Amino acid sequence: MPEYESVIGLETHIQVKTRSKIFCGCKADSWNDPPNVNICPVCTGLPGVLPVLNQEVVAKAVQLASALHAESIQGESYFARKNYFYPDLPKGYQISQYDEPLARAGRFELPLPGRALATVGISRLHLEEDAGRTIYQAGRRLIDFNRCGVPLVEMVTEPDLRSADEVAQFLIRLRQLLRWLDISDADMERGQLRCDANVSIREPGSQQLNPKTEIKNVNSITNVRQAVQAEIERQIREVEAGRTIESWTLDWDDERGVLSRMRSKETEADYRYFREPDLLPIRVEETEKRALQQALPELPLARRARLVQAYGLPEYDAEILTEERSLADFFETSVKAYAGDPKRVSNWVMNDVLRLIRQAGATAGELGLQPAHLAEIIQLVDSGMITAGVGKELLEQARNAERSPRQLVEEQGLIQVTDSDVLREAAGKILQANPDQVESYRAGKKTILGWFVGQLMRETGGRADAKKARELLQELLER
Ligand code: ADP
Ligand code: ZN
Ligand code: MG
Repeated sequence: MPEYESVIGLETHIQVKTRSKIFCGCKADSWNDPPNVNICPVCTGLPGVLPVLNQEVVAKAVQLASALHAESIQGESYFARKNYFYPDLPKGYQISQYDEPLARAGRFELPLPGRALATVGISRLHLEEDAGRTIYQAGRRLIDFNRCGVPLVEMVTEPDLRSADEVAQFLIRLRQLLRWLDISDADMERGQLRCDANVSIREPGSQQLNPKTEIKNVNSITNVRQAVQAEIERQIREVEAGRTIESWTLDWDDERGVLSRMRSKETEADYRYFREPDLLPIRVEETEKRALQQALPELPLARRARLVQAYGLPEYDAEILTEERSLADFFETSVKAYAGDPKRVSNWVMNDVLRLIRQAGATAGELGLQPAHLAEIIQLVDSGMITAGVGKELLEQARNAERSPRQLVEEQGLIQVTDSDVLREAAGKILQANPDQVESYRAGKKTILGWFVGQLMRETGGRADAKKARELLQELLER
């Protein structure tokens, strides 16, 4: 069987995180609200009303375009009406951008495992409003208009992706960037990041673009990967059987994991686009553009590279620490406060702090743990004042704590017990209370020593110097 190369381009919709909608003052985020409460005459398309552009949406879109190296952010771009009929679109048209989008020609640098950076071209980036939501319930269609007029950025890539895995990587990195810049929460399950995947195949080395299909309605990265993979395989089977690929729109069924044909594709003529007469052009002044570009923080990949450079961290650590921006901030502030080996801080952050973060379902910034307190805890462990185990517990206690870890140690008497007499006495008691275990140790079951160490730790509230405890117990047992 000949090999095929897959060719994939994505059309993504990004829900821009703003307080109000794009053309009216209604609350944009309705996730926790009942249906049809965040609506007004503008976003429900009543006659005689006029939309007013929310400038915050423009600012965030310009920032995103800058982060994607889109040199061609337009000083003036235009809204257009995209006409179509659908029950969740009360105006009968969507306000979007068409022939004059906000930005063209950007690129996204995509790190791929075991490969150099791949560059994915961004053909265009434009603003538009979301439509409402149709809910299918017990054979009925219910419409929720809350989502009407929620701001979206549509971002279209060039057909530069080459596999289902690359598609998944692209979405993971895009999500990271969107959160990093606080442009969107980019939660696919909540529809804040949506993606239609265009798929075709060709012979390797060919530059030709063959007819493609478009997969819609996929709501997680795992599902996008699966759907794209399934479609690549279907196209290969078709071509192998001598059939041609037709430009279908395909629907992904989450539950059954299968693609089905939705409709043949609309052409642009179907939408009868024309300039939106109710809105002025979107203007982005040079000075504003520059100010927004300068306000961009160091981007994830640059920061990852700098963490390796500046702190001598392994690539692996730097990757994890830059998963999320407040985590990278937390790490760097902790390192400064610690003034020791950054790798030691990295280990604590990657193991213990991240565990707390995952448990809390929060970001590092929301955890309520001060970097200076982490630094202090590591120092207390380094100096032998507390055991590593106590240190880990302190981390939990230090969240939202008024007092410093050192104060907590003093108040709760958590100082490590290294005093041999104290340890010897506690160990003696344990041996006395457990004659059976002592016997089996002496009969040759040496592995039971670990159990004794555990008992001694419990006896001392985790404060025993582990090395000393072990030596002492061994000495007593060997007697
Ligand atoms: P359409 O005719 O569907 O409007 P566009 O040229 O506007 O096509 O591209 C829409 C999306 O499809 C883009 O993300 C683009 O990269 C992708 N695309 C275009 N041609 C192909 C192809 N032959 N195979 C895969 N993706 C493609
Ligand atoms: Zn409204
Ligand atoms: Mg198109």
